[in-house]
Amino acid sequence: MGTNRILLVEDEEDIRSLIKSQLLVKGFEVSDVDNGEDALELIQSTKQPFDLYIVDWMLPGVTGIEICKFIRMYRTTKSTPILMVTALTRPENIVEGLDAGADDYLTKPFDINVLYARVKALLRRSERVGSKSENPNAKNIKKIGSFSIDTDTCKIKGPDGEVSFTLSEYKLLVALIDSEGKVLTRKQLIEIIQDGPVHVTARIVDTHIFGLRKKLGEDAKLIETIRGIGYRVCTDY
Ligand code: CA
Repeated sequence: MGTNRILLVEDEEDIRSLIKSQLLVKGFEVSDVDNGEDALELIQSTKQPFDLYIVDWMLPGVTGIEICKFIRMYRTTKSTPILMVTALTRPENIVEGLDAGADDYLTKPFDINVLYARVKALLRRSERVGSKSENPNAKNIKKIGSFSIDTDTCKIKGPDGEVSFTLSEYKLLVALIDSEGKVLTRKQLIEIIQDGPVHVTARIVDTHIFGLRKKLGEDAKLIETIRGIGYRVCTDY
């Protein structure tokens, strides 16, 4: 693994130079642009792909949301992590960013050390995901707290033996574990359990999460509610 390359898209000069200088100090290679048009151009023309994008939401012209959507659609960049930086702090704004494809978000003003920690976490996760695909056996057993899930047999074992989960609970649990602490919005969770003609609503997702938590007992606390946005697995246990 060589030096990680980061593309930073931020129109506020002070914030851009602060982020850039901090990341340079930490040994990253940073390209920075102050608008979305240049970002899209660079994403497409670069010979060496970026390892991570830091994208400000509010930009003149092409917005951060449009950049996220583009990155997710474009073949060579669709699995590259995106950290969205935004002055918009309402849950519905954050949901829009996550649904557009951002992996994580940071609301302004933020502590530069928190930004650095998020960048590192996203890079670690994407490196792990990359190496897992080379080793399919590493995927078969997933763990959360004292529970282990065998994805070959779809059986879940808790501290007192096997526990039966509904298919939706099982799918939600696996998706949350696979996201490794990334917040999944209700819309994303709906897509995961949507199957057949019955229209899944956000309310149904919440009900399944409720059922899931009950079965997890003491480990229920590992499924964290992000108010107004969705759910994530707490990874710092
Ligand atoms: Ca801005």
